[in-house]
Amino acid sequence: MNPAGKPGKTGSLMPVEVALARLLEMADVSRIVESEYLPLAQLEGRVLARDMVSTLDLPPWPNSAMDGYALNLADWTGEPMPVSQKIFAGQAPELLEPGTCARIFTGAPVPPGADCVEMQENAVIEANERVRFTEPMVSGQNVRPQGQETTVGELILSAGTRLGPIELGLAASLGCADLDVIRKPRVAVLSTGDELVEPGTALGPGQIYNSNRVVLCSWLQRLGCEVLDAGILPDDLPTTRARLGELEEADLILSTGGVSVGEADFLGVALREEGELTLWKLAIKPGKPLTVGHFRGVPVIGLPGNPASTLVTFALLTKPYLLRRQGVQDVEPLKFPVPAGFVWPQAGNRREFLRGRLEQGQATIYRNQSSGVLRSAAWADGLVEVQEGRTLAQGDMVPFIPLSDLLG
Ligand code: AMP
Ligand code: MG
Repeated sequence: MNPAGKPGKTGSLMPVEVALARLLEMADVSRIVESEYLPLAQLEGRVLARDMVSTLDLPPWPNSAMDGYALNLADWTGEPMPVSQKIFAGQAPELLEPGTCARIFTGAPVPPGADCVEMQENAVIEANERVRFTEPMVSGQNVRPQGQETTVGELILSAGTRLGPIELGLAASLGCADLDVIRKPRVAVLSTGDELVEPGTALGPGQIYNSNRVVLCSWLQRLGCEVLDAGILPDDLPTTRARLGELEEADLILSTGGVSVGEADFLGVALREEGELTLWKLAIKPGKPLTVGHFRGVPVIGLPGNPASTLVTFALLTKPYLLRRQGVQDVEPLKFPVPAGFVWPQAGNRREFLRGRLEQGQATIYRNQSSGVLRSAAWADGLVEVQEGRTLAQGDMVPFIPLSDLLG
């Protein structure tokens, strides 16, 4: 019996969770630890090398949340109050004169001696320039206290946090101009297959254009990797050996194609000779064969060549692996349940990742789910996950993994 509770072939296939756990263990033992200081503008997608601890209170002083008047509530008798100073954002206030209020604007420091701000909508200026407050007030109202967001010494972002616009904004708000980040993983991308030619040349008999290369190279760049584009690798052993030998600077050799146990699997032969090879048969569709090993100590992941298989195995296994190499802990993709807007009558023995879309709150799937059809993913805005051994009726809940998260 297999985990899905059915007898059959499934038992010999590796569940996706097991494959991911093994890859993450491998990533943990080959963590990249070298780091570099870079200005915030260059840090999108990079990973913090050390904890970011606040050296500031934020805000550094109490400030006004409103345009209005600052006063000491204890001075207020209900009678109109004179205005003794005017404080704009960016100015330093003076001690509030007893019995008076201060004109104040949003973001301006609340003057010492004042304990609340009344918004200008609740204030009437009398003929003698005094201000009458028309509503009851409470101490502390409309004042953002010093350190409300952050206090000195507080842990703001942990080492291993991936930096995006919001984290970078937080660093800026604390006055950090540069951050220490893990150096970029260097990923060598190899496209294997005699049938492949690059776009821009005419197709000969039996040839197809190499699409995986640009998919992976641009995706890796988004993930903050340094891409070494190692081009197309023909299906022959001497060239495979020689090309792999040129990639010793890489942190990962990522190849596509040639991973079926077919006769053209020269990558596998080269790894067996000068490294290590394990071929995993994954309970995943599209996908299934995955090469994992190393060549002269450089880790190698070989993805299946069909474009949709490349996409799914990169998204679900390689991306988490690369993030973990940089020390990111939370590498699982975002996933949430949605009702199926389709039926799935036939249970499979592999986990299906269907290219789907959310339409009116329901997941619909592309008409052709062949692993060779990249267009299915261009149409889709996510992957619909159908467990091994599961059938679906219209409206059954299924996990949906948005492509925006996978690609980001
Ligand atoms: P393979 O894994 O080498 O057996 O390839 C499986 C299928 O994917 C074959 O139809 C290949 O022609 C196709 N394929 C392999 N590599 C690429 C690539 N880089 N771009 C587009 N299609 C590919
Ligand atoms: Mg091939």
